[in-house]
Amino acid sequence: MNGTKSSDILVAGAGPAGMIAALAFAGAGFSVVLAGPPAQPEDRRTTALMMPSLTFLKELGLFDALVREAAPLGAMRIVDATSRLVRSPTVTFRASEIGEEAFGYNIPNAHLLSCLEAALREHGAIEWREELVSGYRLSDAGAEAALGGETIDAKLVVAADGRASPAREAAGIRTHRHGHVQSALVLNFAHAREHGGISTEFHTETGPFTQVPLPGRRSSLVWVVRPETASRLMAMDDGPLSREIEERMQSMLGKIEVEPGRQVYPLSSAMPSRFGARRVALVGEAAHVFPPIGAQGLNLGVRDIQDLVATARASRDDPGAPAALLRYDARRRPDIMARSSAVNMLNYSLLSDFLPAQFIRSAGIGLLAGFAPLRGFFMREGLRPGAGWRHIFGGRVTEPSRASGEEVRR
Ligand SMILES: Cc1cc2nc3c(=O)[nH]c(=O)nc-3n(C[C@H](O)[C@H](O)[C@H](O)COP(=O)(O)OP(=O)(O)OC[C@H]3O[C@@H](n4cnc5c(N)ncnc54)[C@H](O)[C@@H]3O)c2cc1C
Repeated sequence: MNGTKSSDILVAGAGPAGMIAALAFAGAGFSVVLAGPPAQPEDRRTTALMMPSLTFLKELGLFDALVREAAPLGAMRIVDATSRLVRSPTVTFRASEIGEEAFGYNIPNAHLLSCLEAALREHGAIEWREELVSGYRLSDAGAEAALGGETIDAKLVVAADGRASPAREAAGIRTHRHGHVQSALVLNFAHAREHGGISTEFHTETGPFTQVPLPGRRSSLVWVVRPETASRLMAMDDGPLSREIEERMQSMLGKIEVEPGRQVYPLSSAMPSRFGARRVALVGEAAHVFPPIGAQGLNLGVRDIQDLVATARASRDDPGAPAALLRYDARRRPDIMARSSAVNMLNYSLLSDFLPAQFIRSAGIGLLAGFAPLRGFFMREGLRPGAGWRHIFGGRVTEPSRASGEEVRR
């Protein structure tokens, strides 16, 4: 290797989680090297980011640019489109029920990535090295990463390097992985009727079929199906596919025209045994992978970053010290475990022919549909972990402030 460079923080991975982490750590006054090639601009997915994530991105100066090409999400509806014996009623969650204008915004990934990239390039204090980290030497005492013939000596490595996470492997963190016999077909479509800011998730026997509003009379679709069905849908002409989607949506948006550019994402789940070790802290999909249900993935990733920055701030001299990583692990574990388990259980209950699983799902959704206080609790918890309890107990429940690491009442 040719030389050594020292930095407080090395962020490995320039996907959305890595770019947000680099901006957040630099904003908190740490020196940052970001390593990784720019993310793929041809990503056709959209990401529903909830208001708490957007509030954090607003602090990083990104909100106005992000929402310019995004659509607000005023309501989310769940429709049981299975033909099972036990079915649940339709439930609609309205942001106005809990005093919010919108749950969040649906942002095309290409736009999200280009906004993040522009902010990084404008940020004088972040050194972005557009190459892969080729190896690590890690211990509790320090971290070295090989990057293009140079060694980066960092106090903390932020592993934002995705589901296969080489940094997580190098830190010796065991990961429980589970492949699903499901793939997500992703596309955008135009429709004749207004969507009214409502996202509709149809539950089917192969997984959710989720329409999410885009600006104008357009929406994005994430359609979870068996891999062989995804191949069939990919091969279909636009006309028949548009008609099939319209039929699935029970024509609620009128005539549909799919736009060019379909993509398929194979689905899997993964859960590491811990979220930090040997100077490496996991964020984003390095820390949690689960099927795209309820727009949880990147929102959870943003909370990883908020908590990691708060932990690092409280241990400013040595943000990757073993005690700081233990605190990060303890702070993230309840949120990550709760979200991952809820999404995986809901997914399982859709796929399973096991009657009790269907009964529990349908009874749960039925309760949400019929009982407004429970629906309010669920919506608040969905936006901000702990917010449902804080609403009930009138601010007497404390949580660690994500910005400062101190305990606060909300
Ligand atoms: C169909 C679908 C729809 C979704 N919709 C939503 C939604 O609406 N809302 C939501 O919150 N979430 C959603 N998600 C989840 C969300 O997309 C992910 O949580 C998010 O993309 C993960 O970002 P990441 O940066 O952690 O990982 P990635 O995007 O995988 O980025 C990892 C990066 O690390 C880089 N890398 C790998 N190895 C190295 C190395 N050795 N050195 C340097 N860099 C390296 C890679 O090149 C890559 O750029 C959805 C997911 C899917 C599949």
